[in-house]
Amino acid sequence: MFDAFWGVVAGVFGLMFGSFLNVCIVRLPIDESLIRPRSKCPKCGHMVGWRDNIPVFSWFALRGKCRHCGESISWQYPLVEALVGVIWAASFWYYGLGVTAASGAIFVTILLGIGITDARHYLIPDEYTWGGLVMGLLLSLAGGLGGFLMAFVGAATGFGLLLFVAWAGKKAFGKEAMGGGDIKMMAMVGAFLGWKGVLLTIFGGALLGTLIFIPLNLGKRDRLVPFGVFLAAAAAIAFVFGGAIVDWYVRYLNGM
Ligand SMILES: [Zn+2]
Repeated sequence: MFDAFWGVVAGVFGLMFGSFLNVCIVRLPIDESLIRPRSKCPKCGHMVGWRDNIPVFSWFALRGKCRHCGESISWQYPLVEALVGVIWAASFWYYGLGVTAASGAIFVTILLGIGITDARHYLIPDEYTWGGLVMGLLLSLAGGLGGFLMAFVGAATGFGLLLFVAWAGKKAFGKEAMGGGDIKMMAMVGAFLGWKGVLLTIFGGALLGTLIFIPLNLGKRDRLVPFGVFLAAAAAIAFVFGGAIVDWYVRYLNGM
């Protein structure tokens, strides 16, 4: 009952963070400030007033069109807002009011931003990765020195492993197989998940990438792989189910 209440409260905050994530998704790839200028219609230049800026609700009230010139507003805006709202509500409902719920909500929100940006631009902005790394390390302090060390070792593992994979890939194929954004991203992932979560994320990301990307792009050579998309999906799965997956794997190994 109590968790449901905090779930609803967190969901309302999530809608607002979703609105902010939309600003990040549009502006970070083109190096624009997140604060100024205020949002305006790209066609007629009218500022978006507060009543047209209410997450999800305004888009439906305006039927997806600018109030002044009627230009279409992408359905992706309310979709991202709704998704982040659901992420925050679900995290606080499931984990209850506490640091784990906050970690999960922040982590998956950042992963969503990374996934969308990498899919669109083949780019993972530092604000998500370095910013997320700092947040992950700060949140780990809730677990005392032990929690911080776990996060620190996780971040170092993620960074080091991907750096090695990038180096080995370049040696083997003679070209960049992995971007610097992926390396920094895995440092951030490690801060939230620890070193076991890093291994699970890399394995899961490679598996998802192979199952989804390769069949879609058979016969098309030299396509860039937005590996961050698959790493982001795997990292979110690892946050929620990582403990259960590792437990199952250890029992599986012991039973062999
Ligand atoms: Zn307009």
